[in-house]
Amino acid sequence: MKCKYCGGDVTLNDHFCPNCGRPVDQAQRHQKEMREYETEFEETKQQAMNELAANSGGGTAVGIRLFIIAALVVLLIWMLINLNGYTINQKREMRAANKNYEAYVEQIDQYLADRDYTQLTAFVNKHELDLNDKYDDYRWIFYGARDYKNIFEALLETAYIGKDTRNLYYAERLSDYVNQFYEDILSDSYTRLSEDPGKTEAVYNEMEQDLTVLLQKYLHLTKEETDSLRGLSKSRRTVLIEQALDEKIVSVTGVGLSEMNKIELPEVEAAQEADQ
Ligand SMILES: [Zn+2]
Repeated sequence: MKCKYCGGDVTLNDHFCPNCGRPVDQAQRHQKEMREYETEFEETKQQAMNELAANSGGGTAVGIRLFIIAALVVLLIWMLINLNGYTINQKREMRAANKNYEAYVEQIDQYLADRDYTQLTAFVNKHELDLNDKYDDYRWIFYGARDYKNIFEALLETAYIGKDTRNLYYAERLSDYVNQFYEDILSDSYTRLSEDPGKTEAVYNEMEQDLTVLLQKYLHLTKEETDSLRGLSKSRRTVLIEQALDEKIVSVTGVGLSEMNKIELPEVEAAQEADQ
C-alpha cells in the first residue's frame, strides 16, 4: 500500500513511512488490532490452563480433551495473526473488494452523493479499502471521510456533556480531529499523487461545507470563525475550537473544561477498566 503523504510504498509493519517519515495510519490501526488479538489469545490460553488445572483430578480424558481444545485455539489464533502482516479476514476482504470493484465503487459514489461520510468510512473499514491499492483513486477521499466522521462523532458527544463524563473525554479530541481534517484537505499530496485530484477536491469542498454547518450548530461558532478555519495555523485553530468547547461546557455544567477534568477523569479511567 501507499503512504498518503508521499505515495511511497509502506507496509503494515511500518509505523512511519520510510520515505517521508510521516505516520502510517493503517499500520497503527493494524497494530491496535494485533494487540487485541494477542490479549484475546492470552485470555483464552489462561482460561484453558485454569480449566485444565481445575479438572486435573477428574481423570486424564478430560485433561486430554482440554489440551486438544487449547491446541486448536492456539492454531486458530496463529492463523488469524497470519503471514505478511495481513490477517486472514483482511486478505479475504481485499480479494472480495478486487472482485467486486464496480459494485463497491458504485456504493462509494452513492455515499459521496448522499454526503454520508460516516457510512462511507464504515464501508471502507469493513472492506479494508484503505489497505487496497486498487482503490488508490479514492485514497484521499477516504482520509477526508474518516477525519470528518471523527469530528462528527466528537461533536455529537458534546450534546451529552454533563450526563456522562466519557462523552467529554471524546469531545476533547475534537481540536485534534479538526486539525487532522485541515491537514489532509490542505495537503498537496493528493494533487501530486492521485489520478483525478479534481474529484478529491470537489469532495473536500463538500465536506468542508457540511463541517461548517456542524461546527456552527454544535459549537456555536460564528460564520466568520468557521470561514477562518482553513487559513488558521494549527495552534490558532486548536485555541478557537477549545475555547468554543469550553464555553459550551461552562454553559451546560457551570464549570470549565480544566475544572471538569480535575473532578471527572479518574471516574472515566475506572469505568474504562471495568469495561475490560
Ligand atoms: Zn511517505
